[in-house]
Parts: sequence; C-alpha cells; structure tokens
Amino acid sequence: MSNQPQALIPRAAPATWLGVMGGGQLGRMFAHAAQAMGYKVAVLELLADAPAAHAADYHLVAAYDDAAALSELGLQCAAVTTEFENVPAASLAALAQHARVAPSAANVSVAQDRIVEKQFFMACADASGVQPAPHQLIASAADIDTIADTLLPGILKTVRLGYDGKGQARVRTLDDVRSAFGAMQGVPCVLEKMLPLAVEVSVLAARGADGKSVVYPIAENVHRDGILFTTTVPAPAISAECAERAQAAALVIIDRLEYVGVLCIEFFILDDGTLVVNEMAPRPHNSGHYTIDACITSQFAQQVRAMAGLPLGDVRQHSPAVMLNILGDQWFDIASGALAEPAWDKLLALPGAALHLYGKDTPRPGRKMGHVTFVAATLAEAQQSLHAACAILRIAV
Ligand code: ATP
Ligand code: MG
Repeated sequence: MSNQPQALIPRAAPATWLGVMGGGQLGRMFAHAAQAMGYKVAVLELLADAPAAHAADYHLVAAYDDAAALSELGLQCAAVTTEFENVPAASLAALAQHARVAPSAANVSVAQDRIVEKQFFMACADASGVQPAPHQLIASAADIDTIADTLLPGILKTVRLGYDGKGQARVRTLDDVRSAFGAMQGVPCVLEKMLPLAVEVSVLAARGADGKSVVYPIAENVHRDGILFTTTVPAPAISAECAERAQAAALVIIDRLEYVGVLCIEFFILDDGTLVVNEMAPRPHNSGHYTIDACITSQFAQQVRAMAGLPLGDVRQHSPAVMLNILGDQWFDIASGALAEPAWDKLLALPGAALHLYGKDTPRPGRKMGHVTFVAATLAEAQQSLHAACAILRIAV
C-alpha cells in the first residue's frame, strides 16, 4: 500500500486507513461514508470487478482466508469491519491481532449459525421479552422422525449460509421435510414453525466501543420472492408501543452481545400482535439504506464511528422515507426479453428521489443493482413517488 501504517495514532482519527472484508454494495456504501469523513479505505475481496473495490482507495485482491492478505490489511488499517455475514470468523480473529475489529469474530459467529443465534435470543428473552419462532435442529435424517406435529407446516432453513430466502424450503408434511432435507444435501438445518405474519420489521442498532448504544426508528419491510422489496419508515402499520418493545429488545440484544458496530435485527409481528425475533445481521443492512438520505447519521457513517472508537452519531430521522430495491429484473423488457436501461431520467424527476446504483455491469434477475429512496415532508408524498417509480420501472404494485 502507498501509505505507511500509522501505529502512533492510538485512535482511528480521520486520514488513517479503515479496512473492510468483502466487496459488495454494503462495502461500497461503507467506503463512501468513510471517505466522506476523511478516511482511506482498503477492501479485501477476491473478485476484481466488485462494487466496493471500485470505490476503495486500495483493493487487496485475495481470498477471505488468505493469511498474508489478512496481515497486510490488519497492519495497514486502524480498524477493520465486515460487509457480509459469512466472513470466516477465524479471519476476523486473525485481523484482531493487528487492528481493532468490529464486529468481533465472536459476535459474527453467533449470527452465522441459526441455531446458535436462536439459543442466544432465548438466553436474552428474560430481559428482551422476545422469543424466536418455535424450532428444532434437523442435523440428520433420523431427527425428522422426532419432529413435533406443532412445528408443521414450517420452513426448513439451512443452519448456515442462507440469505435472501436461499437455502429455505416450505414444508407441510414429514415427507416434505425429508425431500427438502435431501435436496439440501443433508447439511444441518433448522425447522421453524410457519408463523402467521402480520408485518415484518427490522431494528437497526449500534453500539460504540465505550458501550453506549443507539437505536434507529423501527422499519417496516415488505419482501417479494424472499428478497427485500420496500422499507418504509416511519412504519405505517406499527403501534408506538410495539415499536418501543422492538427497540428495547434490540438494545438488550446488542448489549448482551457486547457488540461494537451496527447490528440489524429482524422481527416478525404476528396476527395477534406477538413480537418474534427472526434473525440478526452483524453489519449495516438493506433495510437501513434509507438512513443515508433520511437520518442525521447513516448506518454506514455509524459503522465508521463505532469501529474507529469515535462517539456514535445522532440517529434522528429528519424525513419520512420509502426505499425501493432495484433488481436486475428491471433491465429486462418483459415482452421481448431484451435488455434495456431503466429510465433513470424519469425516476430522478420524481420528488424526493435519491438514486443509489452499485456499479454492477451485469443485470440478472434477483440481483440487487441499486436502490432508490424517496424522502418527503409526509410519508404519503414519499409513497406517491414510490408508486410512480414502480410504474416507471415496470414493477407491479
Ligand atoms: P434475508 O437474508 O433476506 O434476511 P434469509 O434468507 O436469511 O433472509 P429469513 O429472514 O429467515 O431468511 O427468511 C426469509 C423470509 O421468509 C422472511 O423475511 C419471512 O418473510 C419468511 N419467513 C421466515 N421464517 C418464517 C417463519 N418462521 N414463519 C413465517 N414466515 C417466515
Ligand atoms: Mg431475513
């Protein structure tokens, strides 16, 4: 790297290097936020053509477990974070020998394993007041014979490496579980009871190195085909009481983890109002993208502050906001199948539009290419722009 490590600087003051494991869009938006605060950003990512690599000041082209690259990153950077959940925990532990690492290897390992994560949520339930969905570990075919009737119908999820609804199957009968488990090559799975979801929400929290925590407003999420479709904040369907319960639970969880950095916790609200904790992401999250345009401190700027040992920023939301994910599907003309660039000029003409594209060259169905956030004086106005955007992007509402 061009700069020498600045070992004499005890805290990560601007003008030093921050590192990020992973080259996706979360790393790219992290780099933008860090650079805006004066940091230089190094990204460790094997793919040359990666969204975060384009934005970084330095790209270490290496595998996530490459010992030499990890020690270069750790020596160069005052602090290192991750932009994806499945970073090898051992790599974060190795980086921690040289640099501050946030979140820690221990924290990330909890989120990487759905069973460990659920056990952790249950251990917190006395204080957080929220439980995960009823579930059972399916580690072998023999476990399928012991499934309680009350867990069906359910969802079978791989214990590790699931995202955007991948590694999941909906099951009604024991035979369904057997064939789904077989289709997942017999990797350890968790069977969760299918719950009657009224609304899905997420709570973004952050904890600083000094142990102080903050929590953002609750976000209401709509998924389509297992992928986040929109995030709306303030959450229209959520009572103030329910929002407070979810935020309080998130603060208990982040404190119990002794977490440092930004953490996103997904909850279900059931038809009878019960709050259920689903899962957590040990990083900024797609449902927190609205914070870039609608909050004083974006989730990415918050990550910079937390990992650098700086005071956390104001989480206040200054404008109602709706975020719409832009997937590769929007490049394909449904009738002809031909590729066509979406009409960005029309989208950007909408009131309150903030467009974020991730610099990905190849659109594919289901691939997250970017997002657009609409901010306005009222949520109704932001939603009006959202509806107009869906028409422009030919998304059915
Ligand atoms: P992502 O990475 O997008 O957050 P994921 O692949 O890690 O998703 P989950 O969030 O656990 O998986 O599940 C994806 C979606 O499936 C949820 O957002 C929800 O709509 C639905 N779902 C998951 N678990 C349950 C459940 N127990 N009952 C009902 N619906 C569920
Ligand atoms: Mg999820």
